[in-house]
Amino acid sequence: MDKKYVAEPYRIKMVEPLFETTKEERIKLLKSAGYNPFALRSHDVYVDLLTDSGTGAMSQQQWSMMMLGDEAYAGSSSFYRLEKVVKEITGYQYFIPAHQGRGAEKVLLPQLVTKENMYYISNTHFDTTRAHVELAGARALDCVIDECFDLDKYHDFKGNMDLVKLEHLINEKGKENIAGIIMTVTNNSAGGQPVSMENIRKTSEICQKYQLKLIIDGARFSENSYFIKTREKGYQNKTIKEIALEMFGYADVFLMSAKKDALVNMGGIIAIKNDRELFLKAQTMVVPYEGFPSYGGLSGRDMEALAVGLKEGMEEDYLKHRLDQVRYLGEKLKAAGVPIQYPVGGHAVFVECKSFCPHIPFYQFPALAVTNELYLEAGVRAVEIGSLLLGRDPDTKENLESKMEFMRLTIPRRVYTYNHLDVVALGVINVYEKRKELKGYTFLEEAPILRHFTSTFKPVE
Ligand SMILES: *Cc1c(COP(=O)(O)O)cnc(C)c1O
Repeated sequence: MDKKYVAEPYRIKMVEPLFETTKEERIKLLKSAGYNPFALRSHDVYVDLLTDSGTGAMSQQQWSMMMLGDEAYAGSSSFYRLEKVVKEITGYQYFIPAHQGRGAEKVLLPQLVTKENMYYISNTHFDTTRAHVELAGARALDCVIDECFDLDKYHDFKGNMDLVKLEHLINEKGKENIAGIIMTVTNNSAGGQPVSMENIRKTSEICQKYQLKLIIDGARFSENSYFIKTREKGYQNKTIKEIALEMFGYADVFLMSAKKDALVNMGGIIAIKNDRELFLKAQTMVVPYEGFPSYGGLSGRDMEALAVGLKEGMEEDYLKHRLDQVRYLGEKLKAAGVPIQYPVGGHAVFVECKSFCPHIPFYQFPALAVTNELYLEAGVRAVEIGSLLLGRDPDTKENLESKMEFMRLTIPRRVYTYNHLDVVALGVINVYEKRKELKGYTFLEEAPILRHFTSTFKPVE
């Protein structure tokens, strides 16, 4: 269709009301939330861009299939329907459901940590992945290309693994001390930036050379596949399904938080290419942690919705619209001079808060300051992705300084319209106008693990 006649590729059948608050109310609400946006009630948020995780809208097909959920404890037909879809998409032999991404991580990642002082190396570990690597007694090393940190520089695939650094790290630590290589697609913590097929293939070759397992942390494998289709030479005429299949072909294990590209509110996937021993180990551990292997923490109806959502998430008109929405918000901000990571990634616009608020040091969390001000300004909830999220050094317990201090404006799937995005853009631009007045935060109470979720703060005077 002619570009100027294109809008959301869906119409709205069921509505969920939003509530407005006044600035006076928001000042009180944020204070009683301990200045942590995670502690706000969603009722008090106008446009909620905290996360794209589990916040998407399901389709009529998904809702109707939920009525067919088979709630048998063992051998549910819903499990078999989902298993068939997962095997078809990945080409892998083994599938275990999990209740969400971190459930899959908890079951699988410790299986490859066979001794002390081991490492996982990733383009960038997502925060729960890092937590499970450390809980398994291993260390998490990140190895993304340097271009990723050059925010204004255009690069088609800023999420790529730095292949030279990767081989160097394997040799430096000793290949017998590497538990596995984790390729996060898209690279969430590095700005939702895509990874090219060439980079995945070359990472896979390095893994084969050193006999290491390659794990795809593929919460956004469909969005990554769409970027490959539109940006990488040779993929323009391939379907998303073909691209995804090729990508999975290079790896040994697929872990997925289905709450992202699989368009469900809850769910996770463990798929293993052909390592039966690893599958049996994971299957043993899923029972005490998640549930019997034919449901893994999911009800039958959840598995039905997931089986449909996995496929809908790969539909091209949907993916085009989704990435257009994210780019629309990014371009509006960039045009107003707000520093953002460019080009924008797949699921979010990352506002760069180091240059937004250079007067706030990393240990006073500049991106939290901007995020809180945005809530006060416009009732929009975003999230800090920076030094607060990064946490402390496991050895020295010092605050680590993140290379980037981001406020992430994460767009839920099929939920908001362009008008909502206009509200968000206006709010961010107005905060940008008064950036010099913003103040940092220090801890009131700091949580020991994944501290950004539950810690409380006070503004620095
Ligand atoms: C969300 C996410 C996870 C964790 O999944 P949950 O469903 O939130 O437990 C892991 N890796 C990546 C890349 C993610 O985006």
